[in-house]
Amino acid sequence: MPLAPLSYLAYNTGMMRDIFFDLETKELLDQNAPDVDAAIRALHMSVGMTWCACHDKQIFHSPAALAEHLLAHERIIGFNNVHFDNAVLAWAPERPVHDTFDPVTGKHTLVKPLPDAPAELKKMLDAKSFDVLADLETRLGHRVGLAALAEGTLGKQKSASGPQAVVWNRIAALLRDKLPYALTDVGDQEGAARINELGAWFQERLEQYCYQDVVLLKKVFESGIANKRVAYIDFEGERRVVRVQWRA
Ligand SMILES: [Zn+2]
Repeated sequence: MPLAPLSYLAYNTGMMRDIFFDLETKELLDQNAPDVDAAIRALHMSVGMTWCACHDKQIFHSPAALAEHLLAHERIIGFNNVHFDNAVLAWAPERPVHDTFDPVTGKHTLVKPLPDAPAELKKMLDAKSFDVLADLETRLGHRVGLAALAEGTLGKQKSASGPQAVVWNRIAALLRDKLPYALTDVGDQEGAARINELGAWFQERLEQYCYQDVVLLKKVFESGIANKRVAYIDFEGERRVVRVQWRA
């Protein structure tokens, strides 16, 4: 089966420009794992959110669909995406197959838009990625969190944390996939409906949190372009300015 040409990935409308994204995972990363890169590859995406001028806000539950959407853009902007998100996406096993129809020849062709080899997909994603954290780490010599960066640059605070997102996803899945059936089995339809509602509420919080990080990243990035500097709150609570040379 042939790999799809890049023009196909761009939905045949020409390359589209910047896309901002973030994803949440089903498990929490064990920072003390003997091989952190292997631990990242073993994580599973729970939800991914993107924003771009061409498609606006998009939500993804499939890592392959998210990878495909990202690759349709010229530049992929994330926070720790080269080290983290791109690895999670590339090592997810699913590879979709699309049936394309050529009205001129009347022929159907099956195409696989993503390469089978995880390392190859990672390379494709990395090649288009701009990693805000990696860029700041190079300038500062240390890492800085998105929360500290958003607070220093925008005066805005993150509403939740990564560990909360992991627990919300676990609860949402449990409420959606298991408990309603247990109640339906014993004839409690109202109980099942209430559980479903609660599950949907946790799912929505998860998605809102993920999207909030996309919006914060976009605002920090745009502020960095406009002002040639961003700021973060350091571990002593001091606001520190860092010069950047980000291009629009
Ligand atoms: Zn787009």
